[in-house]
Amino acid sequence: MWSLFNQLADVFAPPCLLCGSLDANLDNYCQACYADLPHNDYCCQICALPFDQPLAAPITCGKCLRQPPSFNTSLVALHYLPPVSSLIHAFKDHGDQPAGRLLGACLQAYIQHHRRPLPEVLIPMPLHRQRLLARGFNQAEIIAQRLGKALHIPSQPALCQRQFNTPSQQGLNQQQRQDNLRRAFHVNKSMSGLRHVAIIDDVLTTGASVSALATALRRASGEELFIEVWCVARTLPPNSKLHLY
Ligand SMILES: [Zn+2]
Ligand SMILES: [Zn+2]
Repeated sequence: MWSLFNQLADVFAPPCLLCGSLDANLDNYCQACYADLPHNDYCCQICALPFDQPLAAPITCGKCLRQPPSFNTSLVALHYLPPVSSLIHAFKDHGDQPAGRLLGACLQAYIQHHRRPLPEVLIPMPLHRQRLLARGFNQAEIIAQRLGKALHIPSQPALCQRQFNTPSQQGLNQQQRQDNLRRAFHVNKSMSGLRHVAIIDDVLTTGASVSALATALRRASGEELFIEVWCVARTLPPNSKLHLY
């Protein structure tokens, strides 16, 4: 249930969420604040891990070369650093729709900037039923709806479901985590005819969940399937120099 404030914000364009300027667009940000966001400009073309240095051409990081994930590539707009991390927290944990609009707009701009063949369907990362009931909405589904509308691609939230509630993988060893994730997703519908899909999520961290979903999609498809991942933000390794900026 959205708050009255969020409903009013839909009618009266509010000031910039980041600096309070009245020069904001309907997605709740001004151009100066947009330019200052931690954009993920130079990153691995598969896992979107940012590099510390600018690159002349897209490259693949060492980890993806050694152990490629189940998805083919990803587009991740921002670094999970302030103020992006606060906006994601406000959207996800407090249902702050203006924050969600701002984040969705950033991902949309990033995808439109990286012009390439678009997927046939968008698949929001499913939430387990219990978590969906607790939160009241799936943030990935809201982002996918926006992108689908803007890019004219159907969003299919019912295509798959999360079978297990895995709130924390802490305390499990790598094998146990992988076993948990392998059984986590179930594909409900036929994948026949699909050759190119995008998984939508808010934050990309280790990539383990999206990789597990990608594996489930491939298994259900039985065909050659190109899978990309579209996310708002990428977490950084603890030793990244980008934390300092
Ligand atoms: Zn601003
Ligand atoms: Zn990588």
